[in-house]
Amino acid sequence: MEPILQLQQVDYIYEPNTPYEKHAIRDVSLSLYPGEFVAILGHTGSGKSTLVQFLDGLIVPSSGKVLFHGEDIFEKNYPLKTLRSKVGLVFQYPEHQLFASTVLEDVCFGPKNLGFCEEECKKKAIKALEAVGLGEEVYSLSPFELSGGQKRRVAIAGVLAMEPEVLVLDEPSAGLDPRGRDEILTRINSLCQTQTITIVLVSHSMDEVAQYAKRLIVMDQGRKILDGPTKEVFSHTKQLKEMGLDIPQVMQIMEMMKALGLDVQTDILTLEQAKKEILGLVERKKRKERGDV
Ligand code: ADP
Repeated sequence: MEPILQLQQVDYIYEPNTPYEKHAIRDVSLSLYPGEFVAILGHTGSGKSTLVQFLDGLIVPSSGKVLFHGEDIFEKNYPLKTLRSKVGLVFQYPEHQLFASTVLEDVCFGPKNLGFCEEECKKKAIKALEAVGLGEEVYSLSPFELSGGQKRRVAIAGVLAMEPEVLVLDEPSAGLDPRGRDEILTRINSLCQTQTITIVLVSHSMDEVAQYAKRLIVMDQGRKILDGPTKEVFSHTKQLKEMGLDIPQVMQIMEMMKALGLDVQTDILTLEQAKKEILGLVERKKRKERGDV
């Protein structure tokens, strides 16, 4: 499969040749493929937010290349506006960017800016609002009347209305309560599964990424340290700890059970899988007691 987006040996230095110079990204190469759910993990300051800003050309690498469908996005005359509709970037606290007087108007803004007629804009906005679980009852409300979780969903819909191929979300669950967090991540997950949008999720929550992401990219001090399937990346427990990262809580519990001498698998990522494993253990124990084995 051809990658949608590629970073090739990218470096980034903030404020070069000043006393504030900061080498934020060092020699990062990676490829993103259609329909993937990828999470970018790392401690604060590891370079996650800087990294995702390359993906829609918001910042230009100090060296290295960014390719979208094989084309260098920083070549002269490359249509960056089109790229930005194809690679939607949702910043942290995106609800701060809501501005229109109604929800529907706000979500229409992106397609309008791309030159679609009013009817098309409305159609796209309604589809995007549906995808984040918001119905007709909110169309004419002011975005500012909504709850925190709803505001964030409107902001995400605003990006979705441009029908991106890739949706990049920087800490989409920050500041939400557990219910709001689950709601938003479930919606994002279903976008990936039903509409095959590539999802790039920046997160520092191990539990969150364990539950949803299929691939993890771990950043540390501007470098890409690990990149692979979620289970495999979480098997590098020691290396993650050295970077100040933990394994998911559910995995920690399974490891404690193993340390207590219980015969359980530890490469478990979700509560559902843990429940199955523990019930399996109970069943095996019962059978043993009955002398079935
Ligand atoms: P993360 O998203 O993982 O917290 P960032 O990409 O925000 O990491 O930051 C990477 C490094 O770049 C950090 O050391 C940070 O202090 C620095 N940095 C980020 N933004 C700027 C900026 N606008 N000017 C100077 N340094 C910055």
